[in-house]
Amino acid sequence: MISAGQLAMLILIGVIGHVMALIWYLADKRRLELCQDRIYDLPITDKQVRRELRNSIHTPIHAVLLYGCLLLGSFQNTSWLSFVLSLALTFIWAEIWHYVSHRLFHIPQLHWIHAEHHRSRLNSPVTAISFSFTEKLVFDAGILGALVLVDRIYSLNFYGIAAWYVGYLIINSFSHANYEIKSRSFQKFSGKVLTSATYHALHHSRYTGNYGLGTRFMDRLLKTEWDDYVPLYEQIKGARKPLTHLKERAEKST
Ligand SMILES: [Zn+2]
Ligand SMILES: [Zn+2]
Repeated sequence: MISAGQLAMLILIGVIGHVMALIWYLADKRRLELCQDRIYDLPITDKQVRRELRNSIHTPIHAVLLYGCLLLGSFQNTSWLSFVLSLALTFIWAEIWHYVSHRLFHIPQLHWIHAEHHRSRLNSPVTAISFSFTEKLVFDAGILGALVLVDRIYSLNFYGIAAWYVGYLIINSFSHANYEIKSRSFQKFSGKVLTSATYHALHHSRYTGNYGLGTRFMDRLLKTEWDDYVPLYEQIKGARKPLTHLKERAEKST
């Protein structure tokens, strides 16, 4: 039996990805301020969006697997301390697991798992929820499987983990926008640690590099970051010059 609060969180996790896709679609259509700084000035076809919408049917798997953990008796701690620690642990582990599994998805033998997400060379409002079923299954099994094991040693809090999922689905929709919504000064401060829409757009357009989820930490450690990412960010955000072809590189500075 789960509580009304837990049910509400599971429903939120099940639908928030689509709600965010709808918000981006409307923002794009109405040319809201959010959509001022386009990353790639290239057309996105309706065919791509329709394909991504079909794939998005898998998105509620996050909520289903989290519900499964509750049924197994996991994540029952109700303290604030456990909430904070569960949120922090999920954040750190998801950064590592996403990076490792993402790199593995790019080796030829495993690429079939990830190929569907990469059919989108440009990011549309729906790309953030367009994955194969297997990719989402591996993503969640890695995150929740490790947390279930930790839960046997130190009892984790459901809401801390659920809050991470909600944050992930919202931030991932920003990361897949074809618009850079971070500030011009972003690269001077938090941008040294955090990723951006431009960061992930380069992964889609160039197919490799910039594998990280919310932070640049793993890419920097393992030297997989595109070296012209920051100049391109400055071009898009500072000079307000969007990129005009998928292989575009930053002009060499003298
Ligand atoms: Zn990839
Ligand atoms: Zn992506």
